[in-house]
Amino acid sequence: MSKLEKVRGMHNIPIEETHQWSHVLNFSEKLMKSFSYSEIRLPIIEYTNLFERSVGTETDIVNKEMFTFNSKSKKSLTLRPEGTAGCMRVAISQGLLDKGPQRLFYSGPMYRYERPQKGRNREFFQFSAEVFGIESMTAELEVFQIIETIINKYKINDSWLEINSLGSEEDQKNFSKALQSFLKPLKSKLDKDSQNRLEKNPLRILDSKSTETKKILMNAPRISEFRSKDSTTNFSLLKNLLSDFGIKYKENENLVRGLDYYNDAVFEWKSDSLGSQNTFCAGGRYDSLAKKLGGRQIPAVGASLGIDRLIIACKDKYKFPLQRQIAVIVLDRNFLKQGNIISEKIRLNFPSTAVRFSGLNINLKSELKRASKNNFNFAIILGREEVESSTYTIKDLDSERNYEKLSEEELISFLK
Ligand code: ATP
Ligand code: MG
Repeated sequence: MSKLEKVRGMHNIPIEETHQWSHVLNFSEKLMKSFSYSEIRLPIIEYTNLFERSVGTETDIVNKEMFTFNSKSKKSLTLRPEGTAGCMRVAISQGLLDKGPQRLFYSGPMYRYERPQKGRNREFFQFSAEVFGIESMTAELEVFQIIETIINKYKINDSWLEINSLGSEEDQKNFSKALQSFLKPLKSKLDKDSQNRLEKNPLRILDSKSTETKKILMNAPRISEFRSKDSTTNFSLLKNLLSDFGIKYKENENLVRGLDYYNDAVFEWKSDSLGSQNTFCAGGRYDSLAKKLGGRQIPAVGASLGIDRLIIACKDKYKFPLQRQIAVIVLDRNFLKQGNIISEKIRLNFPSTAVRFSGLNINLKSELKRASKNNFNFAIILGREEVESSTYTIKDLDSERNYEKLSEEELISFLK
């Protein structure tokens, strides 16, 4: 029979990596709570029109990256490609937006039908923060502070923050028109993707990777020329705040996002260790999303951290602490009870230590070999002599040294 394979682009995380994932998620969750954010849990499946109305029908995500299928009752459903739209949907339907500013976070898998490569999967994991109901730049600032704390914690010292302001919805429309008129006569010189975007989503041409297109863009109209007075003032204010708080940034006038709902501030953190998929965190302000989804106008800011890419970016930089592991080995089936009791005592005294009781596997040599191979730190051995004298032998598996005849008390203080 042929072997069953994993679905292309789905991501199973190998067990050697899962402790890194838990570490990042635990740290981020605690951090969010320390900033007084509440966790919200969202469904993975949504009605397709949620994303059409928010992310936008002319974006790559909605156009070609969604996993869409029909329910049995012929309703179009989609595996969420991102979380912001679902989060806003819930906030509107539960009336959260009427209860004053909301600071929310969530994490989970997202699905996009893309070509799998380093840092790009069809199933990937995001950790996201969303702030609803705060008009001032302090919302952006708070999100920056949070993401910077995570970046510093995981020592991603080859990363940098890029920011831009897309201006208001109106500014974006005017700029898009100008860009379109400028590029139309040059259409044949643009790369294929950009040619396709010219009619429907010209703004996205700005982040084309083609050198030829980039060259043409050097003489194109600039977004800053189209920003309204308010947006310009707000952007200056944000940059001043960033400088005041010692957060370094690069301004990138070509930074646009792949989703339609953004206005004013947009931002991305990039790292040199990621290759061509170099953005590992991205976000921006999206003051019009609530209205697009049937709510009232509510200012909003959010950022999404790609955990898959963060794990790649901190490789060889941050040393994830390993859990201490102890193997308890009995040399006779009559000592099962004693073995079990001491295992429980150690678990109680050291809740973050992993204690594996060998049970009825009473071959000392093979148990020690297995423990060493699995990076256990200590083995506690219970043979006849130990049981008769109520003592324990403990072996340091790194140094291979034995410590014999320890009383229970001595054993516990040894492990301290
Ligand atoms: P890209 O330009 O790399 O396609 P994006 O702009 O589509 O990214 P966002 O929608 O901003 O990505 O998602 C936020 C973050 O989620 C990204 O910065 C990245 O870390 C992660 N991400 C997005 N798509 C993928 C994917 N297909 N595989 C792995 N991570 C992803
Ligand atoms: Mg993408």
